[in-house]
Formats: sequence, structure tokens, C-alpha cells
Amino acid sequence: MMNSRSATLGILGGGQLGRMFTIAARTMGYDVVVLDPDPLAPARHFASHHICADYTDPQALQELSNTCVAITTEFENIPATVLQSLSDQCVVFPQSEPVFIVQNRAREKSFLQSNNFPTSPFVILEPDKDPTDALKKFTFPAIIKTVQFGYDGKGQVRVQSFEEAITELQTTFAHQTVVIETLLPLRLELSVILGRAHTGQINYWPIAENRHRNGILDMTIAPARISEELTERTIKIAGQIAEKLHYVGVLTVEFFVVGMNQLMVNEIAPRPPNSGHFTLTGCQTSQFEQQVRILCGLPLGPTELFQPTVMVNLMGDLWDKGVPPWEVILQVPAAKLHLYGKTTPRPGRKMGHFNISAPSTHEAITKAEQIRRQLGIES
Ligand code: ADP
Ligand code: MG
Repeated sequence: MMNSRSATLGILGGGQLGRMFTIAARTMGYDVVVLDPDPLAPARHFASHHICADYTDPQALQELSNTCVAITTEFENIPATVLQSLSDQCVVFPQSEPVFIVQNRAREKSFLQSNNFPTSPFVILEPDKDPTDALKKFTFPAIIKTVQFGYDGKGQVRVQSFEEAITELQTTFAHQTVVIETLLPLRLELSVILGRAHTGQINYWPIAENRHRNGILDMTIAPARISEELTERTIKIAGQIAEKLHYVGVLTVEFFVVGMNQLMVNEIAPRPPNSGHFTLTGCQTSQFEQQVRILCGLPLGPTELFQPTVMVNLMGDLWDKGVPPWEVILQVPAAKLHLYGKTTPRPGRKMGHFNISAPSTHEAITKAEQIRRQLGIES
């Protein structure tokens, strides 16, 4: 592993996550090559070089592996074969095997089930098999989810009954493999974000509590307001998942909490998540700095939270009357605005976020909600 600071790192994807990775890597003295087919990729301003090509373009991948000593990805939908072939020439973290598992919801659920990790009740439905028997035994209401490329609640449909499920399977999801899950009464949603080094050492950030709006993450509260006992159990499961996957990199495990303390793993992401942006200003090491450290074989950074921190997503909807009044955020001393440099705001598009820290979690939430209201974000 290299420890010199003149090396070039590569990242597949130049969205906001790739941009934040690039900023962290450049801050630490590395050059960064970003591969992204979008000529307006948000990471381009910070990249040493932007290869504007498809993720499977052989020439682009050749150029990337020729220039970079180590390569990572900002999202899970990179074909695992691409990561595999890059790893013949460079260090690649996360490795193709865990990405292959978690990039497909059916494989991810099967992995969880076969290793006895708790999940919501689910069945995998193959397009060429009659779903009647499986669905007759199923508990409704339920959610049908596509197995690939779903995000921010996209690729999901809620169904109230057996009949409705059959209709959806024949229309929206015709000829597709899907996962159907019982709709659970969620008390809380949590994410555990961890960094696992090639040595096997794991550093965990404090557990975050997530609130969604229209299927999209709206607010993250760190630390989560849960008991010691639940914290320990959640961390333990996330660590076991990372170990079972022989994972190296930053990993996210999303959990559902039903009732007082029933835990279920919802999904796994092989990367820093949106719900980890509180670490940018709230923690000793941000999730992107940790991604750089792990990729380069450097020591893991400490993950302590300085103060309770709340993150609020800023969606394109906010721009409906022009540029939002940022002074609402900037005049609060403990609030930090972060914009992703995207040129076109669209409803549902993640344009930025703000973080706010306070001596108590309650105070951080109260201040965040006050700013949200002043910006006109609906609850
Ligand atoms: P995505 O890839 O879009 O994040 P998720 O599976 O995490 O997909 O689902 C998005 C959100 O939908 C979850 O964060 C949760 O709020 C809700 N959701 C998903 N599955 C269930 C379920 N089985 N029961 C209740 N709510 C669910
Ligand atoms: Mg999710």
C-alpha cells in the first residue's frame, strides 16, 4: 500500500458523494481522476481530471487504471465485473464481491437471511414463476421493490392486498425479479456507518437516526436517541455483516426498529451514505476522509462526535421561488451550509444539506427544525 502523498486516486462516479470524496482526497494531497458520463458531474471542479465516459467504456477504464494507484466508487450500481477487472491492475476498495451482493436486493436479502441476520419478512419473486402460493401465505400491506437501481424510494410500490400485488406484478413489475416485503410499523430508522481497514480494524461512527419524507432522507440525527442495549446490538450486527463480507472501505447498514427494540436490517450500502454527512462537521474524521484513508492503506481516523449534530437535506423543490435565502442558515453560528454545485435544481433532487451542532441532541433538533421552517420546508 502506498503512503506517499503524490499518488493519484480514482473514483467511479462524480455526483455529490464523489465530489466530497474528491475534496477529502485533494485536501490530503492526492490527485483524483473522476470517471462520470455527465459533463456537469458535481465532482468535476475538484477533480485533477474528469474522464467523461460511460462506466463500462473499456478505453476510459484503461485510462483510469493506467493513471491511478487505487480506485473506489461512489455508488453500488457499477457492474461488479468492472471492479473485478480494475482490481487486476490497481487497488480497488470496496472489492467486487461485496458490491456484487449488495447491489442487488434479492442477493442482499438472501445473504442476510442465510447468515441469520434479522430482516423484515420477505419473498423473492422470479418473473417466470407463479407467485400465487408465495403471496397467499404473505402478510399485507406490503412493499414490492425492484432488485436493482432503486434509490430514494424509487422502484417501490406499496400494495394493500394479494389482488393488488398480483396486478402490480403483471404491470409495473412485469418480467422483473422483485422482492416483496411486509410493510412494518417503523418506530425508528437507524444507520450504522463504519470504516473497515484491510487489517480488519473497524471504526464506527455514532449511530444515526434517519427521518424520511416522500421516501427520501430528510433529516439525520446523531447520535440516535436509543438505549445503550439497542446501540450495542445494532453495532454488533453491522460489524458482523462487514466481517462476513470481508469488506474493506466505508460501509453503511440501515436498520428498522419496530416496537421498543426489535431490530431488522433494511439494506446495506458499500459506500458513505447521505445519512453520514453529519460526520463532515460533527466528527473527528469525516466519512470521506475515512474512505481515502482506507483506500490508501493509512491508519483509520478517530470517529468521535464533537457534539450532537443534525443534518437536513436541501432538495431542488426549495428553488421554486429562486435561490433560497441562505442567510437563514448562515446567521446561525453553529449551522454549516454545504451545496453540491449542481446547476439545475429539480424537485426531489439533492442539491445540498446543512448541519447544525449543539450541546444537546434536543437543542440541535429544535434549531434544525426552526431553520427548516424558515426556509419553508414542509414537515
Ligand atoms: P431505498 O433504496 O430507496 O433507500 P429502502 O428499502 O431503504 O429503499 O426503502 C426506502 C424507505 O421506505 C425506507 O427508508 C423506509 O422508510 C420505507 N420502507 C421500506 N421498506 C419498508 C418496510 N418493509 N416497512 C416499512 N417501511 C419501509
Ligand atoms: Mg434505503
